[in-house]
Amino acid sequence: MIIKAYAKINLGLDVVRKRADVYHDVKMIMQTIDVFDTLDIKLGIENGENIVSLGGLGKISVVCGDENVPCGETNLVCKSAKAFLEYTGKKADISVKIEKNIPVGAGLAGGSTDAAAVLRALNVLLKTDLSDTELMKIAKNIGADVPFCVRGGLQRAQGVGERLTPLAMKKPLYLVAFQPCRGLSTKDVFTALHEDGIRGEDRPDNEAAQRALAAGDVRALGAALGNVLEPVSRRMRPEIDRAIRAIEESGAVGARMTGSGSAVFGVFMHAGACRRAADRLAAAYPTCRMMRTAAHGVVVEEEA
Ligand code: ATP
Repeated sequence: MIIKAYAKINLGLDVVRKRADVYHDVKMIMQTIDVFDTLDIKLGIENGENIVSLGGLGKISVVCGDENVPCGETNLVCKSAKAFLEYTGKKADISVKIEKNIPVGAGLAGGSTDAAAVLRALNVLLKTDLSDTELMKIAKNIGADVPFCVRGGLQRAQGVGERLTPLAMKKPLYLVAFQPCRGLSTKDVFTALHEDGIRGEDRPDNEAAQRALAAGDVRALGAALGNVLEPVSRRMRPEIDRAIRAIEESGAVGARMTGSGSAVFGVFMHAGACRRAADRLAAAYPTCRMMRTAAHGVVVEEEA
């Protein structure tokens, strides 16, 4: 089974408080973008590479050509397969090949969306027929962004990111996005945030962003975008600061960092302005490309 696993950006990211566990309560506006990893997921072990035991429920082999992606048990697809088998009481041997297109450690939920793809695939391959609500219940124990990646589109996310409410969107957005430097550790960014504290003016206006999205007012959306993690990440990696300025200077109505970085994005009034900016920015940032928002999460592309 071939699955397309889409990336996300944060149009708004606010941190409400630190919890007793490792997570934070957040208020986010999350949006799927049309950049995806492709996963080939099969039942049975195809070859002897990177086999991980699923604790009496079977085993999984993970293959990925990207050297930044771990193929052992720390790959989120292993955690996802185990969580699915535990929930359904099934046993299975599973092979997963990941073609990675989403930059790693970028705040684009690359690992989370691969995990969501495994849930969607196993639900079909093992004929378990779980509803999306049940898949999302399993997803939240895998990682805070995994429920969003199952559902996708435009959502308000609360709690640690697992409480989702779909939001209205009048028209798709034209964006550029790229990772201007190596990835950032989410943990390091939150540690720096607690040392610095959050200034009121760095908080996003999520309500204004929701109104702008519903009305299709792209300029108002640009002004309402915000991410409280951005100031610390901009300081930790000056490349992020430079990249956001470059996007602003290329004519974007708003430019921000996504998640804890290090990827950045810019929103444009229309397709032509976006294409011209993407072409200009690509001279300094070769991975920059034009993209659009998408209205769905992981998608089954092909079923053998
Ligand atoms: P998020 O936006 O959900 O905070 P991110 O985009 O910042 O996540 P990822 O690309 O998911 O970060 O990678 C974070 C770490 O997760 C990587 O350093 C990598 O070691 C690990 N990882 C585990 N599984 C995967 C996977 N399938 N794809 C990418 N990274 C993975």
